[in-house]
Amino acid sequence: MSTTTQRKVEAKGVEKVLVPPQPHVPAKMTAAVLYGSEDLRVEQISVPKVSADEVLLRVRIALTDGTDLKVWKRGYHARMIQPPAVFGHEVVGEIVRVGHDVGDRWTVGTRVVAANSAPCLRCYNCRRGQENLCEDLLFNNGAYAEYMKIPGRIVRENMLEVPGQVTDEDAAQVEPLACVLRGIHEMAPRPGDTVTVIGCGSIGLKFIRMLSRRGFRVIAVGRRAASIELALRMGAAACINSAEIEDPVKAVRELTEGQRGADCVVEAAGTTLTWRWALQMARRGGVVNLFSGLPGGTTVEIEPAAIHYSEIKIISPFHHTPRFIREALEAIRHGDVLARDFVTEEIRLADLPEAFRKMKSRSGEIKLAVRP
Ligand SMILES: [Zn+2]
Repeated sequence: MSTTTQRKVEAKGVEKVLVPPQPHVPAKMTAAVLYGSEDLRVEQISVPKVSADEVLLRVRIALTDGTDLKVWKRGYHARMIQPPAVFGHEVVGEIVRVGHDVGDRWTVGTRVVAANSAPCLRCYNCRRGQENLCEDLLFNNGAYAEYMKIPGRIVRENMLEVPGQVTDEDAAQVEPLACVLRGIHEMAPRPGDTVTVIGCGSIGLKFIRMLSRRGFRVIAVGRRAASIELALRMGAAACINSAEIEDPVKAVRELTEGQRGADCVVEAAGTTLTWRWALQMARRGGVVNLFSGLPGGTTVEIEPAAIHYSEIKIISPFHHTPRFIREALEAIRHGDVLARDFVTEEIRLADLPEAFRKMKSRSGEIKLAVRP
């Protein structure tokens, strides 16, 4: 079918209905396919076909993140990706195909951001408002490609139109920012609180930015001069370089009133050592937000007495919910979080295998924008 002529469709066998011209979608596309551990190949594969409740996006931009790096290293993700598979999940695209049952809600040409998952809204956890722990959470991946299929449930629950003034790069941060905003909500800092953030990768920096914009005093703990400089730019009141200091726990405590420790501590560095630091940096009655996910089987030694008699509240928020996907896009629309502060480079799909090898040596501190 030509892309310029309008298609005529027989409706009820009588009327002739005109539908808008459909953009041309080729049969094959370029995509980065993960075959196994550190084995990523850029190939020509078939463009996904959409069924009745799905839409097809032309990918405008995909951002790399720490989860993708983990998946690339391991070669799979137990719940999300079984190779060979196209992966990547922070995505902004333009709708090029709409399934029959999607109806008028979405039209071709609309620029959207689609989350990497959607809850069922029916299971035990969903009914209790814990949609992030949905027993049937549906994941979607495949952003490192020219086209990406969005499953019906994500189309219905977690795909949002990008406001006109918001750039692709900014909007593509919705998913990680939603996790961060939910992490702050669960931590529930109080006015006047000092919050320590351990880790100055793109997640730690988002915490620093959002917390300082909301008026909290932030102490950042990082281990590279460049990321510490960024932390200051994101609003941190003080920064500690853990690579240059013998006792970061003591250094943080010294920056708090009466050396009592921080009211809240966010651990976003992803090591067992920083999990332990987090527990030691909080004041009595403080909240410790163990935000980073460590591989299954990892154990961390803790001293129960130090937690119990100081009544340390430990939380470990995971993932996001539809509410925070919306709040994240709203925060981005207000300019709270700008991609240019986090995205270090823009690359093409063909450069992605090499880029992952580079990221391996600087885990979490490089965020790339992939423009197919
Ligand atoms: Zn559910």
